[in-house]
Amino acid sequence: MAKPYSASYYFRPHTWPFWALHVACVGAFFVEFSWWYVALAFVGYAARMFGVTGGYHRYFSHRTYSTSRVFQFLIAFLAMCSAQKGVIWWASHHRHHHAHSDQEGDVHSPQDGFWWSHVGWILSNDHEQTEERYVRDLMRFPELVWMDKYFLVPPTIWGIGMFLIAGLPGLIWGLCISTVLLWHGTFTINSLSHVWGKVRYATTDTSRNNFWLAIITLGEGWHNNHHRFQSSARNGFFWWELDITYYTLKFFSFFGLVWDLRPVPAHLLDSHNDSWVKNQQDYTMFSRKNGEATTATQTEKFAEEMM
Ligand SMILES: [Zn+2]
Ligand SMILES: [Zn+2]
Repeated sequence: MAKPYSASYYFRPHTWPFWALHVACVGAFFVEFSWWYVALAFVGYAARMFGVTGGYHRYFSHRTYSTSRVFQFLIAFLAMCSAQKGVIWWASHHRHHHAHSDQEGDVHSPQDGFWWSHVGWILSNDHEQTEERYVRDLMRFPELVWMDKYFLVPPTIWGIGMFLIAGLPGLIWGLCISTVLLWHGTFTINSLSHVWGKVRYATTDTSRNNFWLAIITLGEGWHNNHHRFQSSARNGFFWWELDITYYTLKFFSFFGLVWDLRPVPAHLLDSHNDSWVKNQQDYTMFSRKNGEATTATQTEKFAEEMM
């Protein structure tokens, strides 16, 4: 059911910095243009997206590989430059999402409206608190707790860096445009990845696999795979499923920066596995008939029917 908030609810004073960054992107028309600035925005996007996917998501939320305390701190810092609040806040909400995906209590399900799942849940202040019971493992590290508390420090340092590199155009391209694109790129995982794409596994949620979303999110678009098995360091389960985050982690592992990358269990790669959706068309018809409200019981029933 859509959240019963009016449009003005999403423009209350605490949301103004979020909207201001969007408006500031228009500044690109008022400063000199250079492809170097575009490259700056692109590199800023890709590096911080890796921080979000390889750090916030695959390491802090799911612990899909191991690393040192120093690298853990560095990747948390890089991820936090994305201005998506603190590392502990992010992981606690993401673990909550997996515990309640598309069911009652999911913080960002498209079942509550597409807009809500994309950005509404962040602009509301319903979810500002961190549920500590989900993240006790991360709260053992004082440096992470400190950075999580002062979550504006990393993005501020990022902004200063951009200004030092290229002055005002650096701020517009490297901070404003890059960050706004990064936000919406990340948010597609909560919104579009639960709506648009194919379903390989009959999971108890509406997650999908989508090549285009995997490109803009460096591999997170294989979201149906991920909901089927969260503990793997790779979300593209097959070689043809592009997963730049995984390739980067693998590259880092050659230098000993990360290790113990957890693999995909072999039985999930076997198309005769019980949890594979055998007939995509039937599944689509099934989900349409049920208004995409694939509750646990419906999905289980469907999986049985398809066996
Ligand atoms: Zn999801
Ligand atoms: Zn996840």
